[in-house]
Amino acid sequence: MAKGRLDPADWTAFRQEAHRMLDAALDKMAGAEEGRVWTPLPDPLKDALAAPVPRAGLGPAGAAERLRALMPYGVGNTHPRFWGWVHGAGSPGNLLPEIAASAINANLGGRDHGGVHVERAVVRWCAELMGFPPDSGGLIVSGTSMATIIALKAARERALGTQTRQEGVGAARLTGYCAAQAHSCVARAFDMLGLGSEALRRAPVDGDFRMDTAALEAAIAQDRAEGFTPFLVVGTAGAVNTGAIDPLADLAAIAASEGLWFHVDGAFGATARLSPALAPLLAGMERADSLAFDFHKWLQVTYDAGCVLVRDRQAQLDAFSERPDYLAPATRGLAAGDFWPVDYGPELSRSYRALKVYAHLLEHGADALGAVIENNCRQARLLAELVAQAPDLEPLCPVSLNILCFRFTGGSEAAHDAVNAEISVRLQESGLAVLSTTRIHGRLALRVNITNHRTRDGDLHLLVEEVRKIGATLLAEGFHAAAP
Ligand SMILES: *Cc1c(COP(=O)(O)O)cnc(C)c1O
Repeated sequence: MAKGRLDPADWTAFRQEAHRMLDAALDKMAGAEEGRVWTPLPDPLKDALAAPVPRAGLGPAGAAERLRALMPYGVGNTHPRFWGWVHGAGSPGNLLPEIAASAINANLGGRDHGGVHVERAVVRWCAELMGFPPDSGGLIVSGTSMATIIALKAARERALGTQTRQEGVGAARLTGYCAAQAHSCVARAFDMLGLGSEALRRAPVDGDFRMDTAALEAAIAQDRAEGFTPFLVVGTAGAVNTGAIDPLADLAAIAASEGLWFHVDGAFGATARLSPALAPLLAGMERADSLAFDFHKWLQVTYDAGCVLVRDRQAQLDAFSERPDYLAPATRGLAAGDFWPVDYGPELSRSYRALKVYAHLLEHGADALGAVIENNCRQARLLAELVAQAPDLEPLCPVSLNILCFRFTGGSEAAHDAVNAEISVRLQESGLAVLSTTRIHGRLALRVNITNHRTRDGDLHLLVEEVRKIGATLLAEGFHAAAP
């Protein structure tokens, strides 16, 4: 290879290497239903990662070999029996746009090229799917966490004025409101926007884990009386613990009458709107000022990809647009174009994430994605039935969408938390299934989240059997939690 260049010295050999990698990737995806769910990274591979930076490269074949060695050691979310946290399973079609995007290597900060037109089209499609106006602002981002920061910055500037961007929030005492079950990314956004996470008030939830709107109104009134400036209501469409959907239409009405910005965290739940059967559950979401949701969860796009929509495009521009001289807009040439993502978010250099979302929607169409979601909700109800039938299991939350929390109740009450935590870990370590845990009314729960198009009903039968089997084994062993 010529010094100072990085293209392969031998394109024929590189092409073979690339085909081999593609085959390995296809084999992995074609075999996604087989083998263990999660396998921790073996020590020799960890040791190899401790090596110093190579001064001389291994070449394409040497590097590719290292990559293939890592391929079995993912989170396990490509497997049909992965139900931990909220992970999407991905889909093989995504390999293609990832390759194409890599070859194009476009910077999606702005300018006039195919990428920005694709991103703009995808944002418009998202607005259509979510019931937002076609000219809504929006961006394809890394995920709901980033989408939330962008949306809440627009809300902050709406409340305090754009001079906040230069002057900071000063002595302003902005307060926002969400349900006790809202995701931690909302408080994190408050933190990052200089509002302080304590300025996010948490309203209690009702028996179905939905925000108590009377408590919300009382909290707003109390804050006003104490000299705070309420500016934001955050509704959750699909809470991470239980899948609960806040009463979004009520929240939209309260936000409108109080003059507050209404944001919806719909990380996974918003996408249930793609199913005509489930869409009514989300009524009111389309009235939000902003919406954050993910493609990499229930829509099965590979990591990472999420979306922020802002009803008032100008509000998003007000929060982010600012071009230094070297990025000045032009009317012609590559520096032209009237959609520069840098004007809508914090990043300048950005990846061509929108391409895989575009390809995914082209390949499957929105209806097929909605059908995946509908099927997962049916499976969550099936699991709830299986749990209800088992004498030593008890449900801990109703099924709102795709999540069930339950626990093993064999043995003494005092040991239930420890026993259930151990069941989760043993299941993960067995390689048979992955679920995660959370706390419901203070009790440790086994939490099964089905955002997985590969899950078969039989996998859920197997899960119930295994949980009960491990529980019985623990009782027989006289298991009690190790001292912390
Ligand atoms: C996953 C999730 C988030 C965070 O989204 P990321 O894409 O991981 O940044 C926020 N809210 C809810 C309800 C979630 O499930």
